Amino acid sequence: MTTMQAAVLRGIQQLAIEERPVPEPGPGEVLVKITAVGVCGSDVHYYQHGRIGDFVVEQPMVLGHESGGVVVGVGAGVDASRIGQRVSVEPGVPDLTCAECLAGRYNLCPDMRFFATPPFDGSLAEYVTVHAAFAHPVPDTISDDAAALLEPLSVGVWANRKGQVGAGSRVLITGAGPIGLVATQCARAYGATEIVVADLNPHRLKLAQDLGATATINVGDTSLREAGYEPTVLLECSGHPGATGDGLRTLARGGRAVLVGMGDDGLPLPLTHLQSREIEVTGTFRYANTWPTAIALAASGRVDVDTLVTGHFALADSEAALLAGERDPFAVKSVINPQR
Ligand SMILES: [Zn+2]
Repeated sequence: MTTMQAAVLRGIQQLAIEERPVPEPGPGEVLVKITAVGVCGSDVHYYQHGRIGDFVVEQPMVLGHESGGVVVGVGAGVDASRIGQRVSVEPGVPDLTCAECLAGRYNLCPDMRFFATPPFDGSLAEYVTVHAAFAHPVPDTISDDAAALLEPLSVGVWANRKGQVGAGSRVLITGAGPIGLVATQCARAYGATEIVVADLNPHRLKLAQDLGATATINVGDTSLREAGYEPTVLLECSGHPGATGDGLRTLARGGRAVLVGMGDDGLPLPLTHLQSREIEVTGTFRYANTWPTAIALAASGRVDVDTLVTGHFALADSEAALLAGERDPFAVKSVINPQR
């Protein structure tokens, strides 16, 4: 095994399956044979537009950052007993030395190397190398697909942590895409007693109900403000400016808003409401220290990420996997299995 296949974004809407050398694990790294890669909205966005905000694809880039697999090689300084371990790959490796890293906020590290964020290649390939500590061992109760989907699950864990969701919390989740659906399940696991999910897609709202929502709002029929809920926490997972503004206006006194969805740069804020109710608003950027929690939630069955998978694809069909979400209103999460 000296070469492998990888799905490379060469330009806007130009995805090619290329032959590349199998990477060599450097000191402190492991080589992972990839068994599953989830398709994220960001992969689709790079494919369609070649950029996300300031991150611009200027040279060919391997897509993919939600991945799991098996350790098949180790670099210098890594215990060879790791070979054979099933792992979930945490796709962002910080420098571990800067002020943010030392403060425990490694997601804010300015020197982060994150899979499939230019200029770094992603994991939509047969093999990748990664820092040994960021290849998290998973138990056999976690499927190959689920090992990959611990990445979006981590986003849900982080959103609930930032929102300080706990027993008795009343949570409003706007957007029932994959992130909204993992945030819903995490809110339930964290003890929230009211979990209201809002979206336009009835299929996704039904799924939200199956996964722990206590109520749903189809915002095509009823506006958030008419629906009559007064949550203590808003987890905004749609990126839609209207949902963000309306969600903020529903929040109870002393409430907390967590902005997870990627929105526009500008947004009118209901400042009087935020000020008079002392509402806290926070952004989120990826996650930090979430894998142990995500592994425990998935392994214990408190959270089910396998249910989100609506399509399996071979590496050669990566383009179809990227387009599934736009073509099929029932599609939630596409998974590519590079060893198929
Ligand atoms: Zn750092």
